[in-house]
This record gives sequence, C-alpha cells and structure tokens, in this order.
Amino acid sequence: MKLDATDLRYITSDEFRVLTAVEMGSKNHELVPTPLICQISGLRNGGVNKNIGSLAQRNLVARVQNAKYDGYRLTYGGYDYLAMRALSKRDSMYSVGNQIGVGKESDIYIVADSEGKEMVLKLHRLGRISFRAIKEKRDYLGKRKSASWMYMSRLAAEKEWAFMSVLHEHGFPVPKPVDHARHCILMEFIDAYPLRQVADVPSPGKLYSELMDLIVRFARAGLIHGDFNEFNILIRRETGEPIVIDFPQMVSTSHLNAEMYFNRDVQCIRKYFRKRFRYESSIYPKFSSLRKAGEGRGEEGEDFRLDVVVSASGFKQKDQEVLEGYMNNVSPQGGGGSDEEDEEGEEEEDGSDEGGEDGIEEEDIEEPAENEPEHHDTLHGPPDEDAV
Ligand code: ADP
Ligand code: MG
Repeated sequence: MKLDATDLRYITSDEFRVLTAVEMGSKNHELVPTPLICQISGLRNGGVNKNIGSLAQRNLVARVQNAKYDGYRLTYGGYDYLAMRALSKRDSMYSVGNQIGVGKESDIYIVADSEGKEMVLKLHRLGRISFRAIKEKRDYLGKRKSASWMYMSRLAAEKEWAFMSVLHEHGFPVPKPVDHARHCILMEFIDAYPLRQVADVPSPGKLYSELMDLIVRFARAGLIHGDFNEFNILIRRETGEPIVIDFPQMVSTSHLNAEMYFNRDVQCIRKYFRKRFRYESSIYPKFSSLRKAGEGRGEEGEDFRLDVVVSASGFKQKDQEVLEGYMNNVSPQGGGGSDEEDEEGEEEEDGSDEGGEDGIEEEDIEEPAENEPEHHDTLHGPPDEDAV
C-alpha cells in the first residue's frame, strides 16, 4: 500500500463530498448503497455516479457487489487520503516522502511541513493480516457487530496518540507528538537506528541499565509498554540515547496481567542483550518489588499515575477494552508475545474465505498504487503540475 500524494491535489470538492459520504455511511454499513451516498452527500444521483467513478478509478473507494445490492466501501487509500487531507488542511504536514517502515500493523512515512522539517507519519493498519480470525471471536465487540479495519486502526492511533502525548508531557524519551487524524499519527522524526540494527554499543551494560530504568520508570508512573523490544527502541545516532516508540499495546500496572506484561518486557531485553551483545546481568527489575506510583516521589518525580491521566484524557476505558480484545485475539503483537526476530506466523490467505460479510475483503491488503511518490511530493502544489 503506497501513499499517493498527487490525489491530495487533484480531488474536486464534489469528489470530496462523495468520499466523505462513503466514509460516514461505512459507520453503519459494511457496504454503502449508492442511494445512501446520495442522501449523505446531498448530491443528485448523476453527480454521485460520476464522482464515485473517478474515486474508484483512483482506488479511494471500491465497488462491491453482494447478494443483496451493489455498493461502495472506503479503501485504505481512501481512508489515508481523508486523514492526510485533514492533516494538510491544518498545516501540520505539507509533503509526503519515502516510506521507511512497513510494520505488521502500520506503514511509516517520512513527511515534511511547509518549511521542509521532516516528521514521521504512522498509518495504523490493523486488520491487514487477517480478519478471518476476528469473525470467530467477536464477543468483545459488544453491540458493534463488525470489527472494521477502519475502526480498529483508528482506535490504535487514538490510543497511541493519547499515550505518546502524556509520556512526552511527562518527560519520557518518546517522539514528540505533532498531530493526529483518523488512523494516522504525525510525530517528530528521530534520527536514530532501531536497536535491532545496532551491531555494537560502546557499553552494553550502560544501555542495559538505561533500558531497565526506563521500564521501571514507566511502571512507577503506572504503565507497562507491553512490546518493549529491539524494534521499538530507537538509539539516537548522535548521542546513543534510547527513545521508545510504538504504544498501541501499553497497559496499566493495574491490569489483571500486569505482572506478566512487565516480566515479558524485562525478559525481552535480557534475552536480546544476551544474544546480541553477550551481556548478562543478574540484576533486573521485578514487578513485586516495585515501589508503586504514589508511594513517595521518585528521583524523576513519577508519583503520578499516567494510566489514570490517559484515561482522563479522552481515550476511554471502553475503547481500550475493544482494542485490547482485538489485539489479544488476532494481533501478532498482542497476546502471544512480542515480535521476535523470526517474524513469521502470519495467517496465510488462501482466498477461500467468503469475504464480503464484514465489508473487509482481502484485496484491502494489497491495493495497487499507481503513483508511488518519490521524494517529497507536495500536497498543496499547483494543479498544473504533472497530473497522472
Ligand atoms: P509498528 O507498530 O508497525 O511496529 P513502529 O511505531 O514500531 O510501528 O514503527 C516501525 C518502524 O518505523 C520503527 O522500527 C522505526 O524504524 C521507524 N520509526 C517509527 N517511528 C519513528 C520515528 N518517530 N522516528 C524515526 N523512525 C521511526
Ligand atoms: Mg514496532
């Protein structure tokens, strides 16, 4: 899935209305019928047909036929478009550069603001791997009967935004959050290598204790990262300072399985240091001996509960539960351990799935993109530039 910044320039206002109507219709319909698109957009049938045709051509929506009626659904591309347009309208970002990462559940791009300052855009892609599994385990969805990739990806982004903001405000070494929209987060670009790519560190012992101190510092503030591994720790190129990223799976130290998550984070670092740097220490933090938040002021002042601060900040407990339910059931990062070096374990897509029922087709997974932006394709460029 590539981002196509050219679309951001060439969409008309009627196309935008139709696209937004498809998005709104998707909240209650897995497949949005054309009459509903007319109704929401306020455009006549002819107008909708013309505009939806051009949106479909650009893969921003896809036409789907099911047993009962024909309709449209928003594609990843359409959702990306809406999010990026919101960010660019607010002047948070201006151009899209190269993709620097493809996670299992996200795509990462370098983007820039109008002054050319580079940032990182993370697009959450929950549901990319398999929606088959989720069909069987829906209890946690409650009344919401379909677990759409849009909804889950947005929740993941909202959670990540909430945690990153609170952590950054409280002086934790995380990227500075810049803005967010729908399933996207815009953040500071960290000039760094993931620990995974670092062959040598001047002092493994020092880095080891810095990382363990961080785990403890998180926990004293009521939080556990939950996926504290060599991919989610960036080592700043200039200073060697560790920066922590990737927060959709963070949990509170009051979580039922807090101790398990805490120990898993700790063990992950121990194991990695043993394997990569041949460094082993008998000293490592234990959940049971932590001085809990509120039991006196720590050196860093973590006598507040950031888990509570986050809950109060707008990312609701209920959303948290829905997301956690999803992650534990189908996410490769959730439940069954963090992403270790052997990446695999993805469900194979055998194409035998009936599809359609959830409005989640497997072709969502790899929609071809026609125009792959090279360097910094500007979003606001004049419309006479090389339209493709
Ligand atoms: P995922 O949820 O897919 O694992 P991450 O947030 O861990 O996504 O990001 C994936 C990769 O993208 C990271 O390992 C890192 O290489 C890069 N990356 C993410 N955020 C930043 C950032 N703020 N600055 C620099 N690189 C980043
Ligand atoms: Mg990650």
